[in-house]
Amino acid sequence: MKYIGAHVSAAGGVENAPLRAKEIGARAFALFTKNQRQWVAKPLTDESIAAFKANLQLADIRPEHVLPHDSYLINLGHPEAEALAKSRAAFLDEMQRCEQLGLKLLNFHPGSHLKQISEADCLSRIAESINLTLAQSSGVTAVIENTSGQGSNLGFRFEHLAAIIEQVEDKSRVGVCLDTCHTFTAGYDLRTPADCESTFGEFDDIVGFQYLSAMHINGSKAKFASRVDRHHSLTQGELGLDVFRHIMNSDQFNDIPMVLETIDETIWPEEIRLLYSLAEA
Ligand SMILES: [Zn+2]
Ligand SMILES: [Zn+2]
Repeated sequence: MKYIGAHVSAAGGVENAPLRAKEIGARAFALFTKNQRQWVAKPLTDESIAAFKANLQLADIRPEHVLPHDSYLINLGHPEAEALAKSRAAFLDEMQRCEQLGLKLLNFHPGSHLKQISEADCLSRIAESINLTLAQSSGVTAVIENTSGQGSNLGFRFEHLAAIIEQVEDKSRVGVCLDTCHTFTAGYDLRTPADCESTFGEFDDIVGFQYLSAMHINGSKAKFASRVDRHHSLTQGELGLDVFRHIMNSDQFNDIPMVLETIDETIWPEEIRLLYSLAEA
């Protein structure tokens, strides 16, 4: 079974997100549990938590198909001690919010070396950040998203994801989210059925599909291997539909949240229907 949705707004309170997902015909969704551009947020209230859980049931969406995304400010591989500590504290807060909401996953971008430390050192810091956070929380899996490799962001090679996972102590609570746009612009082609076979085959060899916990389903405005992160609608841009047909017809993508982060939210209902229509019954 495939569970498709979109990254919906939590404006007015997290409890509104499941209702917005339901409105667009989603069976899964992503959200920010706090303002993604601020370090500190007010704690979730008991009322908001209860309403979120009730609305999730109303929308008939299971907690394991919700994919919260952390703040863009957090850098779990930060080269400087003080900034690293600040990121780790904020990440733990994000993790605890997920716990409070009864959710199982927390999606994040691995981190950036800011040209001050080596890739290997940065990857180790990211793994240590995950270890520290998992030790202070329970029930939520840390889901590392692959990146386009823009700037000094790591996570654009499958080897980066594997190196982080290798250093995580509790491997039952670490996973990966592959973003189709990021994968493609990082230099893994997905334009033809053969490209999909080879790229996802390489992912399985280096990381392993047992770690795949979620997908971000995006078209790409940026060119192949450009290391630029610019999403597009599914039927536009550089990617084409073959990759989405592959995903919808492969059992390797069953039972995980698959979330649109495409640029025109007015067509999300259509994009969700399009994806389901690509599955050959
Ligand atoms: Zn993404
Ligand atoms: Zn992106």
